[in-house]
Amino acid sequence: MIIADQMLVKKMNQKVLLNEIVSNSPISRARLSEITGLNKSTVSSQVNTLIEKNLIFEIGQGQSSGGRKPVMLVFNKNAGYSIGLDIGVDSINGILTDLKGNIVLDQYQQLEKPSLDKNKDVLCSMIKDLIKKMPDSPYGLIGIGLCVPGLVNTEQQVMFTPNIDWNYNLDLKSLIEQEFKVPVFIENEANAGAYGERVFGSAKNYENIIYVSVGTGIGIGIVINNDLYRGVNGFAGEMGHVTIDFNGLKCSCGNRGCWELYASEKALLTPYQSNGNITSYQEIINLANQNDPEILMTLQNFGFYLGIGLTSILNTFNPQAVIIRNDIVEAVPMVLNSIRNSISSRSNEKFANSHELLLSSLGKNAPALGTSSLVIEHFLAMFTS
Ligand SMILES: [Zn+2]
Repeated sequence: MIIADQMLVKKMNQKVLLNEIVSNSPISRARLSEITGLNKSTVSSQVNTLIEKNLIFEIGQGQSSGGRKPVMLVFNKNAGYSIGLDIGVDSINGILTDLKGNIVLDQYQQLEKPSLDKNKDVLCSMIKDLIKKMPDSPYGLIGIGLCVPGLVNTEQQVMFTPNIDWNYNLDLKSLIEQEFKVPVFIENEANAGAYGERVFGSAKNYENIIYVSVGTGIGIGIVINNDLYRGVNGFAGEMGHVTIDFNGLKCSCGNRGCWELYASEKALLTPYQSNGNITSYQEIINLANQNDPEILMTLQNFGFYLGIGLTSILNTFNPQAVIIRNDIVEAVPMVLNSIRNSISSRSNEKFANSHELLLSSLGKNAPALGTSSLVIEHFLAMFTS
């Protein structure tokens, strides 16, 4: 019993020290002792263990207030590599990152048809290619994270993808695990994006955020006290299907007047596509930048509808920050103003200013970086739990 307790204490100390070195390196042993309150011999022995495991290394010498200059410890971000993949409605975005989330390699593949069965081979060959080009490292590939725009349950099974033809009998997690022999994590796309922004992006300095992914549909990722809130079954955040017009358009989910029928990219583009006038989001962005009056009016309405749903989100969660991920909102600044106007016209003045409304700083890589960070966290936790 005493031995078990000692083991636990050692692991906990190692976790505290590794976290400090990851966040604050280069750092000296003396400074680690000061910050963590652990005595110098404990720090020294745990640091030696982490060096033996190739997770940290020593570099030159740091600043000293006098006497011998201390050796500095650095987190070995190249001890291994992680793959993050964002399976979208019509594309796959894949990245290879180091253990600090720096993108080392990236790949993007347009999909011919939104069908997972047909694109399974595309997915596997992208992973193989990233592995082939991966730099040498002590731990090699530490895991693969994937996200999909759909419902993912707590067992990481994909349950429903409204905009992709998915074979629900296919166990994607097992398939990728068996093929590549590393831990695999599957996450909802908005959850992954929220996590990416929290760890590496716009939400780095906030503990309570809502990430709003506006694409073909709308999904939100909820971070409460630094952790993802997934709901009992993993289905939390389906705000795209909140009714904003009770007599409104019929939605494929069975409801009427859902938010995403008015404020998604699909809702924005479909009327233009049916006239054959405009076929891509990039054309909308180009016309907005040329001050095309009709497009500016359309985008003002887009911001108005986004603001309606966002007001409900603010009323529900009272977050520190809302992060919006959308190509058009990121490219055309007036849309964010329309969103702000829409929110403030529907909220109490004090309430309307209680949050930060921010754009995604990771852009299209947010979900892939989020899945990669989940892999990295799992990897680092293995040494300290
Ligand atoms: Zn709906």
